[in-house]
Amino acid sequence: DGDWPRPDHCRVITIANQKGGVGKTTSSVNLAASLAMHGAQVLVIDLDPQGNASTAFGVEHHADVPSVYDVLIEDAPLSDIVVAAPELPNLYCAPATLNLAGAEIELVSKVARESRLRRALDGYDKGKFDYVLIDCPPSLGLLTVNALVGGDELLIPIQCEYYALEGLGQLLRTVDLVKAHLNPQLQVSTILLTMYDARTRLAAQVAEDVRSHFGEVVLNTVIPRSVRVSEAPSYGQSVMTYDPGSSGALAYNEAAAEMAHQPIGRTS
Ligand code: ADP
Ligand code: MG
Repeated sequence: DGDWPRPDHCRVITIANQKGGVGKTTSSVNLAASLAMHGAQVLVIDLDPQGNASTAFGVEHHADVPSVYDVLIEDAPLSDIVVAAPELPNLYCAPATLNLAGAEIELVSKVARESRLRRALDGYDKGKFDYVLIDCPPSLGLLTVNALVGGDELLIPIQCEYYALEGLGQLLRTVDLVKAHLNPQLQVSTILLTMYDARTRLAAQVAEDVRSHFGEVVLNTVIPRSVRVSEAPSYGQSVMTYDPGSSGALAYNEAAAEMAHQPIGRTS
């Protein structure tokens, strides 16, 4: 499989769900790697103080590394903090460090506190990128709001388990507020079902519920539960390079292909 169509403008895609452990970071990292492997220039912005996306790419993020904190709080330009991810030639990362945890509070007293990431993105030459993926922390605080204001599209990963839909209403209400007041073009473009366990009736039921509720924005591809997916970050790699033939890598490739071929932003 060769290169996929590249969008005619940089697609800024926020990956959010205030629940922890639903596959936000795993999906950000592996979709980004897959898109990069198929010819796209991709930047991942790590907006989670835990820095899991930075870790997964093998990008340094100790306290002294220039990071998203400097952009949001100190007005540093994005170009000061973006680094190449060692894993793939067209893959870049804006790392997060632990001090970003404090940004959630420090932002409160800042001017245009909800729009600081958007301003940084507007002031950044995104021309070289086809995709910017923003990996959010597990909350609906100001960091996630910044990501919703900064993005044009929202991808919601949903874990195929019993409480999957709980809390989604709150996320969607936040999206509506952001659309009404701060970022009218934001749209829920993609829902990705993650950690699917084909042996359970429950997973199939959740998938069915999500599809009947959200319709065509739900990708046809579901990501299976796979040990290789969870092992990859400890090697500082996405599963796409750690084990390209694994079921998880194949599924993330398919999901990324679907995204690359979404009518939105596609080169006509
Ligand atoms: P979030 O960023 O939403 O908190 P993560 O992407 O960090 O969630 O995933 C939570 C945990 O589940 C991690 O330990 C990750 O390695 C694991 N995980 C994610 N997707 C899969 C999968 N498809 N198969 C197995 N483990 C997974
Ligand atoms: Mg995460």
